[in-house]
Amino acid sequence: MTELRFGSAARLYSSTINESMPNQLDLLDRWFPCLIVQETEHDGAFRKEAEYNDRGFCIEAVKYNGSFYAGGSRRVAQITGRLVGSAKGNQEKERKTASILQKHLAEVMVTDLSVLPSLQRSVLERIEKFNEEQRESFYVAILEYVEAVLVNWETKAEYERLEELFPLDSEVFEGILYNAVYQMVIQTDQSIANGYLWLLLGGLLRNEAGRVLRLYDSSFIPIRRQSSEDGSIRDKLRYLIAAEQYESFYEGDDLDQRYPGIEWYCDRCEAHLNEQEGFTDRNPIWVCTACGYENRIGADVIFNNREDYHHQIRPMTEEEVRHAVDERADAAKHK
Ligand SMILES: [Zn+2]
Repeated sequence: MTELRFGSAARLYSSTINESMPNQLDLLDRWFPCLIVQETEHDGAFRKEAEYNDRGFCIEAVKYNGSFYAGGSRRVAQITGRLVGSAKGNQEKERKTASILQKHLAEVMVTDLSVLPSLQRSVLERIEKFNEEQRESFYVAILEYVEAVLVNWETKAEYERLEELFPLDSEVFEGILYNAVYQMVIQTDQSIANGYLWLLLGGLLRNEAGRVLRLYDSSFIPIRRQSSEDGSIRDKLRYLIAAEQYESFYEGDDLDQRYPGIEWYCDRCEAHLNEQEGFTDRNPIWVCTACGYENRIGADVIFNNREDYHHQIRPMTEEEVRHAVDERADAAKHK
């Protein structure tokens, strides 16, 4: 039963580089450096055990030989166990502390806009060090992990999901998986880093990741979120993986246009061009009446959504557009 948890996501990387899993403090510090664990000074000859600092929202620990030392602190073990996803007991107090920490981390990520780019960089640095074989096996392992997490999710009834340690809303769960797969299939080092970071982040923050989802697109670019696509999460993921199985279609009654049903936006100022006086898509260029920018109009600059446009991926082909327009015209005739 694979759940979306930080520990299981982090294991994918450890398996790829063939290391034994680092201890929990080191693991949290590796992927979320300086955010959860703060290094403190040695003070004396005796090993100092880690402590949770309630005011600082962090675990303070000493490093010995380059590795954080938890010592016998039950409290720290309980908190990190919950964040990583290995502790299942119902110590209510430490579950609460862990959930406060999740809230705090989400708050930091949405208010300090330098945090996510620095996390992206540190994940990317690790992925760039892969040899070709590691890169391939990591990629496959991530997609298998997503599938396993999804199967586990689908087999659970809603009440079972609510009984989990940090219950996840469907919206957040689906958003995390969607963003992760969206990035993975672009298949650059950066996008694989982005996809993996979504899983680490979703596993760590659980429902609190919703705040990050609302503010960032899949590549961690801040966005004004547009309405999401319809349909189930499985359907959305299938679309990302096998877009060619889907046919495009248009609704709307502007059949006098070359591209009926397509909304055009200015590449510079994002004005809605269809609304501009005299707009037509019959010419290869439309000059935005708001800012004067010359926007190209054509099938190869039609994207299914803003995010595809942003990544410049999956533009429609002229053929797909024609096919969809013909279908649309046919349907209109038979009304
Ligand atoms: Zn404009």
